[in-house]
Amino acid sequence: MKKYNFSAGPSILDPQVVRETIENIDNSNKLSLIELSHRGPEIQKLFADTKALVKEMLHLDDRFEVLFLHGGASLQNCMIPYNIRTKGIAAYTDTGIWAHKAIEESSIIRETKVVASSKDANYSFLPSIGDWDEEGYLHLTSNNTVHGTQYHSFPKLRKASLLVDMSSDILSRKVDYNQFSLIYAGLQKNLGTAGGCLVIVDKNILEEEYRLPKMLDYKEHIKAESMVNTPPVFAVLMCNIVLRWIAANGGVEEMEKRSIQKARLLYDEIDRNPLIEGFVREEDRSLINASFKTSSPSLETELLNYLKTKGIEGIDGHRSKGGFRASMYNMMPVSHVEYLVDCLQKFSK
Ligand code: PMP
Repeated sequence: MKKYNFSAGPSILDPQVVRETIENIDNSNKLSLIELSHRGPEIQKLFADTKALVKEMLHLDDRFEVLFLHGGASLQNCMIPYNIRTKGIAAYTDTGIWAHKAIEESSIIRETKVVASSKDANYSFLPSIGDWDEEGYLHLTSNNTVHGTQYHSFPKLRKASLLVDMSSDILSRKVDYNQFSLIYAGLQKNLGTAGGCLVIVDKNILEEEYRLPKMLDYKEHIKAESMVNTPPVFAVLMCNIVLRWIAANGGVEEMEKRSIQKARLLYDEIDRNPLIEGFVREEDRSLINASFKTSSPSLETELLNYLKTKGIEGIDGHRSKGGFRASMYNMMPVSHVEYLVDCLQKFSK
């Protein structure tokens, strides 16, 4: 039976990406890419090409360094407060589980301020920061994977540097990526597979005088070109293949069009179908992760089981929240969302 992968991450991969990955790790007549030394020309080229692709596709200025680091997005929760604007305020918006984890980690390291929160409202909307702006940084989670909210515009700050966790929406929309001083994203959603994190950092916000353990120091990773130690070659190889797949499919512009189309299809059904309802404020709805619940809790298991019989996988909500969450990353075709909508309609008849 055909499977439809609506999982939040690790997430759907296009079959062409999987085929190309297999070709690259095939070692029947040669050493595969994942057997080669990272000091050799092939892996050096893989890293250089992938970084160049990121810069080109996001239209990044020269002040940015592109890094591939271990530790997923979660390691950035401590690297950021250790490295960035250490003399200023570490400020956060508390907009979901991942944002909250970032706040908790930062609080261990330095004084941390929450400038806006929707925690008491179950993270069902994106709170405003008002006119807050202080020396230091503001960290935002651009797309809240668990709750299904997404910033559709970003604050313009004069004093604070804007840092953003784009783990679940990088490359899915055209925004001015140069407005951020640091962008990071775990690789397992819109960038391939787990095992690493893409970090894009404006080198001007790194202070010279501090000393940190090497693996936690952006300056060391920049100096060693992401190879302080043996890097996550397989994850970067897949990222390279995914970036080329995006470019061949019309680039970020086309990904955005498809995201809008997919989200519209599903939210129209959520708003129309009497058996289901959305979780979050309409204007903050995510184009990538749509969260919803059954209007009667007793229907939840029934709907989940029904969708399973139809080959729909990974659509159950985060374990902390319940309900449903349909993740529609770049590599999910529009036809899969059409299929889901069709199943929801049949269920309600
Ligand atoms: N931030 C966001 C927005 C996420 O969705 C996730 C993972 N789902 C993380 C951070 C943590 O990512 P990782 O598992 O790569 O540490």
